[in-house]
Amino acid sequence: MLLCQARARSDVTIQTFAVTTPEQALIKRLPARIERVLPLSHDVMGLYLKLPVAEAFPFEAGQYIDIMLAGGRRRSFSIASAPQDSRLLELHVRRVAGGEFSESLFSHTVRSALLNIEGPLGQFVYRAGAAPMLLVGGGTGIAPLLSILRHLVGNGIEREMAVYWGVRSERDLYALAVLEELAGRAGARRVEVAGPRHADVATPSLRIVPVLSEPAPGWCGRRGFVHEAVLEDINDLHKYEVYAAGPPAMVAAVRSDFTARGAAAHRIFFDSFDYAPDSPARQRSSAATKS
Ligand SMILES: Cc1cc2nc3c(=O)[nH]c(=O)nc-3n(C[C@H](O)[C@H](O)[C@H](O)COP(=O)(O)OP(=O)(O)OC[C@H]3O[C@@H](n4cnc5c(N)ncnc54)[C@H](O)[C@@H]3O)c2cc1C
Repeated sequence: MLLCQARARSDVTIQTFAVTTPEQALIKRLPARIERVLPLSHDVMGLYLKLPVAEAFPFEAGQYIDIMLAGGRRRSFSIASAPQDSRLLELHVRRVAGGEFSESLFSHTVRSALLNIEGPLGQFVYRAGAAPMLLVGGGTGIAPLLSILRHLVGNGIEREMAVYWGVRSERDLYALAVLEELAGRAGARRVEVAGPRHADVATPSLRIVPVLSEPAPGWCGRRGFVHEAVLEDINDLHKYEVYAAGPPAMVAAVRSDFTARGAAAHRIFFDSFDYAPDSPARQRSSAATKS
């Protein structure tokens, strides 16, 4: 939350994020070179940023960076790569109509091959444990979940988990091949991929479940809202740790509907992909609130 924007209406309990190593406290501002720009789908661009060799950039799976624009304004994007690959950061940038940064990336008018970034940021990070995990992503919300998955698979960490990924239509499933490849690498752990053409399977140790909200008639996979697909599959959520990232409406639905089904509020970790505070829509809504 933006503490400069928020006003408490009653007493509040503040839960702090435990910083366990000095490196975790280091938020850096660094130049980053655009190494590659790769279309991942019709409206998502993969942006690969190379960091200076001399600078360590330790981050935790799930965190994000801010890309600095003129005048100190910033745009937040989650890191999709794993912490072990911190030299080259992978971001998934969705094109938003009129979006200052994303449009410039799609129209190849980014002014310089050098960007200034600040990070790592955010408390949406993987937490070690033994509880089964539910990873719920909407659209580019799959990015921080990919970082978590890459971290787990890359380090041979075994946990029972299911990844539910909600998008509009089949063409938006831009990361499915990567997810399937990760599932394959974790193959020793009885992995099932509930891909678009496959039937969903009951309780394997890693499931990947794409959910389409606007599927074409031939779609044989899951339909509807992504959080509803989870609720259809699992009646009692009390034993799960939930990681949810993506559109604010999806995150809000996960928080309210999952707790109603037994998930402990303190075990629902989330990152809500809000607009940048200086974007025109935000300025209009905050002007309306103030007047
Ligand atoms: C912690 C965090 C992590 C994020 N991670 C990602 C990520 O990995 N990938 C990603 O694509 N986005 C992510 N976002 C969202 C992204 O930061 C915003 O969408 C950002 O505003 C886009 O910048 P822009 O310059 O392209 O558009 P802006 O110039 O900021 O926006 C222009 C207009 O587009 C509309 N708009 C902007 N963003 C959205 C949106 N998300 N939904 C609907 N309308 C919008 C608004 O009307 C806005 O006025 C994240 C946000 C947060 C807070």
